[in-house]
Amino acid sequence: MLESLKKEVCEANLELVREGLVFHTWGNASGISRQDGFVVIKPSGVSYHRMKPRDMVVVDLNGNIVEGEYSPSVDLPIHLEIYKSIDRAEAVIHTHSHYATCWAQARKSIPCYGTTHADYFLGDIPLTNLPKTDNYEVSTGRAIVECVKSKGVEWCKAVLVPGHGPFCWAEDIDKCIEVAKIVEELARLAYDTFMLSEGTPILLEKELLEKHFRRKWGPDAYYGQKR
Ligand SMILES: [Zn+2]
Repeated sequence: MLESLKKEVCEANLELVREGLVFHTWGNASGISRQDGFVVIKPSGVSYHRMKPRDMVVVDLNGNIVEGEYSPSVDLPIHLEIYKSIDRAEAVIHTHSHYATCWAQARKSIPCYGTTHADYFLGDIPLTNLPKTDNYEVSTGRAIVECVKSKGVEWCKAVLVPGHGPFCWAEDIDKCIEVAKIVEELARLAYDTFMLSEGTPILLEKELLEKHFRRKWGPDAYYGQKR
């Protein structure tokens, strides 16, 4: 079942490695079929060079395995919390991409220092609260959802979990890979800006931040080609 989604999810996991966003097995991608109420996710700890679409694990929204011979990624409960609470999430990606993880480990949100960032996020890429170790993955998922709801579900499509790394989601799996790539590049730009400014960079002016975001996203957007 869900053969095309399994193919997409498998391919997305491999793409994260090719893009340098996932080192070793440090990451996971999943996709949901809202119609069927099933999530397809990477198996836990299976090496990438022999990972095939048939190795993907199909689960329901309670995490019960519906199909697949492997155990799902240990981060499955995090993905499920995101799917249950953020309607527009059709795909979820978690990586330990270098710069984004550095910000998460420094326990800092990624500040908006320029329009490159403002073209995608209407503010910092926020840092969630620290998850509890009790029921850790569910707690992480809930910390993510709570953070996103406090910022704005309509624009906040990625967060950093303190001491851990970035999580993002999107309307489809290709867009989700793009968000993961953009988060890493924004983290790298912000890091270098911070260092060059000797730790006192200037945040992008609020009007410019709003202008750049709104010309690309939402009802007043005018960026790109008209259909
Ligand atoms: Zn992780």
